[in-house]
Amino acid sequence: MISLNRPYLPDQKKVTAYLDRIYSTAHLTNNGPLLRELQERLEDYLGVENLLLVSSGTAALQVAYQALNLTGNTITTPYTFVATASSQKWMGLSPLFSDIDEKTFNLCPDSAHRMMTESVSALVPTHLYGNACYVEDFESLAERHQVKVVYDAAHAFGVKYKGKSLLSWGDASVLSLHATKLFHTVEGGAVVFKSSDTYEQAKDIINFGISVSDGSIGHVGINAKMSEIHAATGLAMLDDINHVIERRVAIYEQYKDALSGCVEFQEMHENATLNGAYAPLLFDSGETRARVQAHLMKNNVGVRHYFSPSLNQLACLCDGHEYDLPVAENISDRVLCIPLYYDLQQKEVLQVIDQVRRAV
Ligand SMILES: *Cc1c(COP(=O)(O)O)cnc(C)c1O
Repeated sequence: MISLNRPYLPDQKKVTAYLDRIYSTAHLTNNGPLLRELQERLEDYLGVENLLLVSSGTAALQVAYQALNLTGNTITTPYTFVATASSQKWMGLSPLFSDIDEKTFNLCPDSAHRMMTESVSALVPTHLYGNACYVEDFESLAERHQVKVVYDAAHAFGVKYKGKSLLSWGDASVLSLHATKLFHTVEGGAVVFKSSDTYEQAKDIINFGISVSDGSIGHVGINAKMSEIHAATGLAMLDDINHVIERRVAIYEQYKDALSGCVEFQEMHENATLNGAYAPLLFDSGETRARVQAHLMKNNVGVRHYFSPSLNQLACLCDGHEYDLPVAENISDRVLCIPLYYDLQQKEVLQVIDQVRRAV
């Protein structure tokens, strides 16, 4: 069986060396030395400031909403992982789903514009499969309506937009560092804040609201801290990240060369770099997608129909709203993700290509 995904395992000796350091100090969590080292190295590697490490990508989203004082409605994409929207509901927000662009699969700035009302406090788009959103359009929309922008950048580790980190756009950009993501700390997440004041507040928010500097309690907080053991895994993996991204992008491009004409690919932003986070294929219909999916599973190729369903079809996220979002519903019916990870062997890539061609 060729699996759909396989987490990257950093060098075991390196991880052990970090664990030895943890054992010698007994500093296990609470802003420890490894966490601070990882935070600095990530800011340096990504080219960002105000990066806060937390316990998961979902917690990172929640902390970003809380730190930015979001209230009422948000406008978000229905075509994403469920946590983009469920994190908003969990924080007492009421997400409104707006349709996506059929080429880029990202939230469409024009549809978002049409849903704008007084009660909206933020836009929450996702850089889906690592594809940069139309960030300039969202920025001007947000300025015109005086709302915040929080990017779910869970898929966008390492992506550069016009030469700068994509994560520097928006009031906050959120990474997931979960084991299945391109760069990971087993479980973990991060927020990159535009404002250093908001960043300082968020440091307290992830520590029960207790001020890191003077111990006073000025916020309602939560425990969203990352442990030293998680930070150790990240530090060991960060040494290898350029190889990981290069290999993943090479596989993605090989798929694209071999399968264009047979299936469609997401249109990637021309001003952004690729990171090889996912390999989504788009078929001509939902029936073709289901047929190919069954064929690949039968022939030992791990695939996943995601993201599906379009989130506007989940009653628990919709507050009784009825949505008609034809593009998101159509794309989510026709899409399938195929294996893409660092350890995927060249002969496996060829096998996947061959099986997709046969099935289509
Ligand atoms: C993985 C993911 C998350 C959640 O991150 P966790 O670290 O698993 O909590 C949120 N949004 C998107 C788009 C994701 O893919």
